[in-house]
Amino acid sequence: MGSEVVALKVDVDTYAGTRDGVPRLLETMERFGIRATFYFSMGPDNSGKAIRRIFTRKGFLAKMLRTRAPSAYGLKTMLYGTLLPAPMIAESFPGVLRATAESGHEVGIHCWDHVKWHDLLPWFPKPVTAMELGKAGSLFERILGRRARTTAAPGWTVSPDSLEIQDAMGLDYCSDSRGSHPFYPRMAGREFRTLQIPTTWPTMDEILGENGITPGNINDHYISLLKSGLNVHTIHAEMEGGVMAASFVELLQRLQGRGVRFVTLGEAAVEFAAGAPVCDLMMGGLPGRAGDVAIQRPLTV
Ligand SMILES: [Zn+2]
Repeated sequence: MGSEVVALKVDVDTYAGTRDGVPRLLETMERFGIRATFYFSMGPDNSGKAIRRIFTRKGFLAKMLRTRAPSAYGLKTMLYGTLLPAPMIAESFPGVLRATAESGHEVGIHCWDHVKWHDLLPWFPKPVTAMELGKAGSLFERILGRRARTTAAPGWTVSPDSLEIQDAMGLDYCSDSRGSHPFYPRMAGREFRTLQIPTTWPTMDEILGENGITPGNINDHYISLLKSGLNVHTIHAEMEGGVMAASFVELLQRLQGRGVRFVTLGEAAVEFAAGAPVCDLMMGGLPGRAGDVAIQRPLTV
């Protein structure tokens, strides 16, 4: 058994990604015999409102143009919540959530309203943060017949309130952060008890177009990042399950060819939690990403 372990974290952000991207990823993973962890956006698809990031975040427009987001996401998606009404995601496709669970994958909550959380979390009063997670949680339970055991915040955006509410939900673990190894977060001087399993690799949209990385050589880069122990790769139903599907299939072939062992994040939580340290968690910038993300830091005393 190889010592390189990879957990695939699938973020499902949109209505179209749930409808088209997830079934495609399920088929791909079935073919490779891989089980992953899928995080669903449960409420309205307000993707069109992400347009406000063009005005509020430096570099967002350049990034949208560089990654050709409109072709990855589709014109309709770019208008949801603005010129077109925001469609409800999980209510529209409960069968997709059930099929994901029935195929042996782990299913968790990404959010209620992705754009709202990603753009406005720091300004939410605590009851609003609780309501976003609460609405997502009750619909999850209604569709899957059990409570969610894990959540993963949109755009790796967290606050002390969101961590506190996740503690209160009694989750097994969360995957809200970027970093190197599982840890217990300390934010704004407060320690939280829900294990964090951070994403360790950059996402496709962060590195495409940077440092000569193209769709043709991006997998060389990913293979070069592979380390022994746990690697966590976040993919998107809209990208790896859509326009970048061929590249993702090649990545899986190469990882399997090296004898990498695939686990779900839940399995990783069990396997790698022992001795997990307390680390500071802070919002900060990452290369290739327009907004701030929650980053694991060594604990400062
Ligand atoms: Zn997302």
